[in-house]
Order: sequence, then structure tokens, then C-alpha cells
Amino acid sequence: MNEKKPAVDMEESEGSNEGSNEVSAPLPSERSRFHYSPEDVSIDELTRRQGYAKAGAHSAVKTCAWLKHSMNGTGVCYKSSFYGVTSHRCLQMTPTLMCNQKCVFCWRPTEVEASLPDQWDDPETIVRESIKAHRKLITGFGGSPNAVPKHEEEAVHASIAAVSLSGEPTFYPRLPELIREFEKAGMTVFVVTNGTNPDMLRKIRPTQLYMSLDAATPEMYHDICRPKNKNLWKNVTESLTVLKEKKAEGVRTAIRMTAVKGLNMTDASGFAELIKIAEPDFIEVKSYMHVGFSRLRLTRANMAEQEEIRAFAGEIAAFAGYQYAGESEPSRVVVLSKTGQLTNVG
Ligand code: SF4
Repeated sequence: MNEKKPAVDMEESEGSNEGSNEVSAPLPSERSRFHYSPEDVSIDELTRRQGYAKAGAHSAVKTCAWLKHSMNGTGVCYKSSFYGVTSHRCLQMTPTLMCNQKCVFCWRPTEVEASLPDQWDDPETIVRESIKAHRKLITGFGGSPNAVPKHEEEAVHASIAAVSLSGEPTFYPRLPELIREFEKAGMTVFVVTNGTNPDMLRKIRPTQLYMSLDAATPEMYHDICRPKNKNLWKNVTESLTVLKEKKAEGVRTAIRMTAVKGLNMTDASGFAELIKIAEPDFIEVKSYMHVGFSRLRLTRANMAEQEEIRAFAGEIAAFAGYQYAGESEPSRVVVLSKTGQLTNVG
């Protein structure tokens, strides 16, 4: 696949890492980019400024920079190279912006809480409103002299729902039905979770289930993911077992690590021991990207170079019994699998 390199800041949607455990203070120049303090602005307004569109009462969609690249025929996202996803047919959404972690690398405004809705929308409403909002967003790309006409036509009919925008989707109590509703609309479904809700993971059967694993120890988890409840590490480790059960049920599984240089690119054997519990189909080791509100907490120096990602992924692979299966330099990610092979979604 031909991947061209977009500006790094455009990769915000990947939705979404030795030494000191101290989080680098934001540079004054980084703070000034915002011209406001997140705490003074509502979550709806903050996310609107980040290009989100609301879909119903509490869900949101956002187009990814790669969707536009794919429409223009200038590049595709790494999930296209790894798993055969058609980037311009990807609908990226979240059923809630609520989260029980405040990861230092998160590009959402973790400084502001998203509240529990008075009432949850039903799955049908969420799917209908997500498709509507997504189509409205991509209309803005239409008419571009660079757009590939066939891709423009195809983009209107999303073929994959990536439930992976900021927020923890397992907070939505009807997530299993939501997945089925997207499937009824003709889409494959990717779900990304932080692993803090193993009970909900037991109930869902998406096409591919991603679980974030950004720490090798409880202490690292506390420093990097900043959970609201100190017992959540136990849930994360329990979810690794659930991931293995999901794989046995036929769900494609992936563990994704956001590698933050200077914070969690250490203890490869510790990561490997945890990964061995889940035995996922794929392991993605991806650099932290200096985008969105993470710029208030980290610096550009926390982004790892591709060769550093490759080296750390290689250490994890050796300890966990996996092999290098591919990489994408623009996205600073390396993917591993047991056999060194990758398979496309059905
Ligand atoms: S778990 Fe929550 S805080 Fe962490 S990256 Fe995901 S949305 Fe952001």
C-alpha cells in the first residue's frame, strides 16, 4: 500500500508512549497554542473545536485525516495496510465521551469531565445519527479537485464502524446491540477499549476487539493512565483473560500499546508477560503522537522515532513469542503477530 506522510498533527484521530516516570511539563509555547484554558470551556465546545460532530444526545463522530487522504488518493491509514480496511469508508465514532482514565497521552480534553447523560439513546438512533453526521462531515471534502470520484461515491457508504474515538465505549450499557446495529447497516465493527470493564467485554462480539495496554505494572499504570479508581488495574488484567476468550469465540483481537518515550518504553518482559495472558492475534506498538490536548501534558520529545518503536516492539516480540509483521512509518507503528503474517478483515 502506498502511504504518503501527512502532517503529524493531522493524525489526531489515532484516536488512542525509559527513564523518569515524571510527566514532562508542557512547554510554554505549547500552552499558548490553545489561547484558552480547557477548564473554562464546555466539553461539547472543546470537542466541536476538535472537529467532532454530535450524533444524538451523547455520541460523537469525527473524520480521520486518513479518510480525506484516501478520498484524494494520496494515502491510506495503517489499518488499511495491516487489515485491509478501506480508509475512505471508515466511520469513526464513540457512543460516549465519558472515561474512567486520564491518560497523559490522550488527545481528548481529560481536564474536563463528560457527564452521564440523563437518558441513553437507543442503538438504532445512535447508528442512524452517526451515519447522518458522518455523511455531513465528508460532504465538506466533496468538490475537491483532487478527490477520486469513485472514492467520493464509496465514502458515503461506510463499510466499517471504528468505535474508537475518545471516551470509553464500554460505558454505553447497550454496546452489544450497538455493534449488531452497525452490522445490520452492512459494516464490520472495530471496538477499542481501555480494558477497565471486563464484564462488558464478555458480552460483545465485534469484528476486531482492540484493548489498550499502556503499562507493564500497577505503578506504571497509575502514572500513565491516571485511573479514577485505583482498583482498575485489576480489571485491566482480568480483561486480558477475556480477550483470550473472545479470540476463542472467533473475534479478531489486538493489543495496542501507546509508547511514550521517557515514560513507558521500558520493561518489555513485563509487557510480554501480560500479553501472553491474552495471546492476541496482533500486537500494535505505536508511538505517542503530539496532538490535541496531549500537548498540554507532554512534549514533542515524548514521541518515539520509528527505529525506537521498531526496537521496543522487537524486544516485546522476543519475550512474548511474536514476530514482526509490518509497520507504518507515517503512523510510527509496528505490528506483530504469532506467524509474522497479517490477515484482512472479512
Ligand atoms: S482510555 Fe480514556 S483517557 Fe485514555 S486514551 Fe482512551 S479515552 Fe483517553
